Amino acid sequence: MPPGVACGVGGFLPSTMPNTHPSYVELCKLVREVSTLGSIASLLGWDQETYMPAGGVDARAEQQGLLAGIIHERKTQKKIGDLIAACEGEVGRSIENGSPEAANIREMRRDYDLATKLPTSLVQEWATTTSKASEEWKHAREKSDFKKFAPWLGKVMDLCKQKAACYGVPKGGEAYDALLNEYEPGITAVEIEQVFTPLRARLSDLIHRVAKSKAKVSTKILSAKVPAEAQHAFGQFVLGAMGFDMNAGRLDTTTHPFCSGIAPGDTRLTTRYRGEKFTDALYGTMHEMGHGLYEQGLPKKGPNAGTPLAGDISLGIHESQSRMWENFVGRSREFWSWALPHVRKHYGPHAKAFKSAKVEDLYRAVNTCTPSFIRVEADEGTYNLHVMIRFEIERALLSGSLAVKDVPGVWNAKYKEYLGLKVPDDRRGCLQDVHWSFGLVGYFPTYTLGNLYAAQLWETINKKIKDLPARISKGDFAALKKWLNTNIHAHGRRYRAAELCEKVTGKPLSADPLMRHLEGKLGGVYGLASAR
Ligand code: ZN
Repeated sequence: MPPGVACGVGGFLPSTMPNTHPSYVELCKLVREVSTLGSIASLLGWDQETYMPAGGVDARAEQQGLLAGIIHERKTQKKIGDLIAACEGEVGRSIENGSPEAANIREMRRDYDLATKLPTSLVQEWATTTSKASEEWKHAREKSDFKKFAPWLGKVMDLCKQKAACYGVPKGGEAYDALLNEYEPGITAVEIEQVFTPLRARLSDLIHRVAKSKAKVSTKILSAKVPAEAQHAFGQFVLGAMGFDMNAGRLDTTTHPFCSGIAPGDTRLTTRYRGEKFTDALYGTMHEMGHGLYEQGLPKKGPNAGTPLAGDISLGIHESQSRMWENFVGRSREFWSWALPHVRKHYGPHAKAFKSAKVEDLYRAVNTCTPSFIRVEADEGTYNLHVMIRFEIERALLSGSLAVKDVPGVWNAKYKEYLGLKVPDDRRGCLQDVHWSFGLVGYFPTYTLGNLYAAQLWETINKKIKDLPARISKGDFAALKKWLNTNIHAHGRRYRAAELCEKVTGKPLSADPLMRHLEGKLGGVYGLASAR
């Protein structure tokens, strides 16, 4: 196999032999130990969500607390800092500029700085404040009373400002950039705004046109009742068909679906089943599988095991993988022309509703577009507007241009302007998400970045694999998976998201591909004459 070519899941042959400089070798060893401890914590976390009996909760908290302390100690040890500094001195000398090793050192520096730049006092205050704030948020949401939560949001925002100051605001940038670096390294608030602004205008226009459309789209087929066991069996079948390696992963049931890439050869997905609306579990499973395929495709084995090079780039890129399988594959006509006969077969006696259903019925039903209040229930067309509202508000809160007390008013005004909705109360308004109570500021935009990256990658993939739609309609997903393995997964964290996007698609990130996708699809479903 030629150098630099992916050799299947979990394996990647670097174009050069791994560097053997003693500092680099020792650094990798220490970082790998931290990563192994992290994988133990992930396993404990997965078990807690899936099979642990309720009685184990106190002991588990103790186990996790002790382990978290050990991980933090190891992660922040001075030895790692010294070795990173020594290796940085070698870049351009014994470590080639632009090499995978140089990228690895850059990422180890980032991780080390994130772990060490916050003083213990701030870390402790953060932990106590966010834990109380999330409790207060729960009560405030139940009562739909923002005033109850406001003082806590104020405290959390103050801590976020302190955190950003400790991380260091990049030259010419803003505090928000320092927080973004935790989730989406390398991108700035201004860069996000430049992509989001045209996206918002076009999306808002599209949604208004959909709202005026006279076309009726029936979603009746989605309320067919399908028992959880039949849904689970079909979910497993879809995972297998799409190339998720069941020998190196599994699918279980939890309240909140997630994917945990625990260790090399061990990627676990979860989903949840409702008696009706079988597509919730189906798309939930495909979404997590997209994350899971990324985890299975990362170069976790070999010389870079346990180092940043074996890890994922960012939340945005991770989400691009899940959204691609969920929305670009799963909500396509081609997917349904393959899946419908299998649905009939798997759902057996429960498949009555699907007997006379046509591919077009399913395609239209899963592509409706209706503005709604709750982000996590939003459809593909309206989802990103929910995200943009949060991005605009949290950025303004952090810069101080928006006062906490004014959040509900601004929130409601934006829902009216972008989605045409009158928010009835704070529970369905600015109190709906848990993120701010945990201090997760800078996290929201990664959801939309994921959709944008997915759309831009999807256009490129369709140029490279010209018969992809025909393949999908035959249930042949191998070429798509192989392309993602080779062009995205195999690089691990070698490139930053923006760099990988340009390298793979030839262009910087733009709102155009996602808008072409949505305008094309919704234009068809709703018969919009002026679909651009
Ligand atoms: Zn996701």
